[in-house]
Amino acid sequence: MPLALLISTYELGHQPFGLASPAAWLRRAGAEVLAIDTSLQPLDRAAAARAALIGLYVPMHTATRLAAELLPELRALAPQATIVCYGLYAPLNADHLRALGADACVGGEFEAALVDIYKGRGATAADESSADESRRAVTPLLSFIPPDRAGLPGPLAYAALITAEGRRAAGYTEASRGCKHTCRHCPIVPVYGGRFRTVPRDVVLEDVRRQVAAGAAHITFGDPDFLNGPGHAMKIVRALHAEHPGITYDVTIKVEHLLRHAELLPELRDTGCALVTSAVEALDEGILERLDKRHTRDDVARAAGLLREAGVGLNATFVAFTPWTSRQVYADFLRAITELGLVESVSPVQYAIRLLIPSGSWLLHLDEVRDLVGPFDPAGLVYPWRHPDPAMDTLQRAALRLAQGSGPRGETRAQFFEKLWDLVDSQIGAGARPSLAHLLPRPPIPYLSEPWYC
Ligand code: SF4
Repeated sequence: MPLALLISTYELGHQPFGLASPAAWLRRAGAEVLAIDTSLQPLDRAAAARAALIGLYVPMHTATRLAAELLPELRALAPQATIVCYGLYAPLNADHLRALGADACVGGEFEAALVDIYKGRGATAADESSADESRRAVTPLLSFIPPDRAGLPGPLAYAALITAEGRRAAGYTEASRGCKHTCRHCPIVPVYGGRFRTVPRDVVLEDVRRQVAAGAAHITFGDPDFLNGPGHAMKIVRALHAEHPGITYDVTIKVEHLLRHAELLPELRDTGCALVTSAVEALDEGILERLDKRHTRDDVARAAGLLREAGVGLNATFVAFTPWTSRQVYADFLRAITELGLVESVSPVQYAIRLLIPSGSWLLHLDEVRDLVGPFDPAGLVYPWRHPDPAMDTLQRAALRLAQGSGPRGETRAQFFEKLWDLVDSQIGAGARPSLAHLLPRPPIPYLSEPWYC
């Protein structure tokens, strides 16, 4: 039986769903499947040399850069294989990935396409979901089946939820894919174009059941936004809690949905929700407008208050450095973090994230963005930009170095924030340091041991 080799280079510290799901589809189609997570396992070169199909999972930026490094070696090792890059970043970077050795690039809904290619039917136009707007309408509707995680390292090898009580091994599943929103900087938008798909409840619950049996005490729902379909989402967490009352979970919910569905937050808590990640992105109204986030700083304050009231931790993520983040805007951002009581809700790396403008980004719909970027850089997989004030690019690099050293130093988030403030003050002048004394009595907010990178 011909071998299908599936490879993930990095999936944000989760056991790769992007291997487990197509592995189930390919095994059902009769394939011998070997799934390798190269973030934890060595590449099996002998397997590559005999594979009929090699699938490289590219769901996001870092994974795609690592996959691009691997592609020429795979092409040389396996001239006989059909090499397919699949996942969100594949159609966005199809030309580059093909130049490095990929035979096909398949977008967000990839399982059926991989089976078709394995069976020699090739990817249909509907499977080659594309960043090209004229072809985007073709993202296919799949009949999902439970992922098959056989052969992958178990949940204990991956990121865990860290709480005041200790470490909880985290599993990962998805109750939906895509997103009904169209934030301009989001890489989901060029592929899904404002659409989302729900995964049937029994498929999600079976996936959770298997991961709990394998040792997971916590489940991360990787849905781009858990409340895109609130009825579907709530039925799943009610059933999850009824079956596994000791299991906690975390979800991602945008600010707009936290406000619109505020009445659901206590039920999320009661069913085990320990943490909500929310892509706040900025606290400056002009930047929020450009990103089309559809929330304001006041909305963020209200959403954070609702989560606090409900007793659910907030993990706020940001795009801290953009071309519009002036010295004043960054200093205001830090001050607002303290005023809104968010110091414990922001992982150090979030203060250093720089705006990525990937191929197909809807930010390129803005004249001012097209005017400020350079030509597409295939090695970096981005349209490069420089801040008009070079001190801001210098500060971003210094903030990133500080954040990367924070974990090994074992600092609290408040201690990191104090150091960041010193750095910012020395480089661009941040003004009077706000007091963080009010933070000390609070119990730490749970967090995932892998910081959220893209
Ligand atoms: S709500 Fe989140 S997932 Fe949806 S488009 Fe906006 S940033 Fe992307």
